[in-house]
Amino acid sequence: MYFDYTATTPMDDEILETYIKIQKEYYANATSLHKLGQTSNQIYEKVKKNVQEMFKIEHNVVFTSNATEANNLGILGYLKGKKGKVITTILEHPSVYEVFKELEREGFEVVYLNCDENGIIDLKQLRNEMSKDVLLVSVMFVNNIIGSIQPIDEVIRIVKEYPKCKLHVDMVQGLTKIPVNFNFSDIDMFTFSAHKFYGPKGIGGLIYKNNLCLEKNLYGSNAQYGIKPGTFDLGLIVCAYKALKKYYDLQKTNYDIVSKYRDYIYDNIKNDKVMFNSNRNYCSPFIIGLSFNNIQGETLVHILESNELYVSTGSSCSSKIKKPEKTILAVTHDEKRASNSIRISLSHLTKQCEVEKLVEVINSI
Ligand code: PMP
Repeated sequence: MYFDYTATTPMDDEILETYIKIQKEYYANATSLHKLGQTSNQIYEKVKKNVQEMFKIEHNVVFTSNATEANNLGILGYLKGKKGKVITTILEHPSVYEVFKELEREGFEVVYLNCDENGIIDLKQLRNEMSKDVLLVSVMFVNNIIGSIQPIDEVIRIVKEYPKCKLHVDMVQGLTKIPVNFNFSDIDMFTFSAHKFYGPKGIGGLIYKNNLCLEKNLYGSNAQYGIKPGTFDLGLIVCAYKALKKYYDLQKTNYDIVSKYRDYIYDNIKNDKVMFNSNRNYCSPFIIGLSFNNIQGETLVHILESNELYVSTGSSCSSKIKKPEKTILAVTHDEKRASNSIRISLSHLTKQCEVEKLVEVINSI
């Protein structure tokens, strides 16, 4: 019983079939001049156009190996050769947070926005820190540990008052899952990862305004605007788009399905050792963070595993690092709680009998 869909999702059968078809039929390199190569190139160009139409944008679309690469490429590519002040949040995924730590080491002034007890960033602090000298603001759409949904519409409004400042949004846990109340065209750069919405692993994207100059850190051909040179896998690119389109269109349906499971879990966990780290009124229904007051997160994962229930401690990316989970620490200010946390994550593929079993086992611990 898999409850780790935030870490990754299984590939959709229809998408997998497409992958095989493309690999068999359209294997030519899109940079080759012959007819087969040109057909691959046309498919690639069509995918980019479709992505632009889907989001109603004219941004450049670059396909990367994953969202970690996309976040690095966007943030570092924009800031290379610059110096000054940049703003992010204490809630970011390591693929953004660690980039800002590196920027700090390089001499940038970095501000990490705080959050409240629901994991929502402090907009007042953002307003106070903004000035005409700020180069970049980076705020994630949905947090990957507790699922808190950030007010991206408000962030856009604030950043827009400073035309020199650019906005980067890590959309990885929000896209295809959470309704969007902002225009994608108002965001300078955003990123996604196909394996979070039933697409293949090994493919993500950086979507950035075409007036933005991103410096390269890889040298090679001119493919993908020259910032991600090299031969790309057309199969992965087509499948990333297909998964994005399919699950973007299913957003509301799946949101409603998952909300029912989320409510069942909140309403039926009756164990006085359990504290919820997510607040269901502010968080994605796909993610439930909770802590036991007396058991380490890792131990909890194994207790649940022995019942064939698969959850994560906090982020899968930092789960091997034995440190209190930084998001839970930021939200609760409680080190023990941040060490004793697990993340349950849900999908439209989740079954009622699975959530019942999960609740039963959690209540029995
Ligand atoms: N940002 C967020 C919010 C994430 O949850 C993740 C994946 N854990 C990433 C970025 C990185 O994605 P990827 O695994 O594709 O590098």
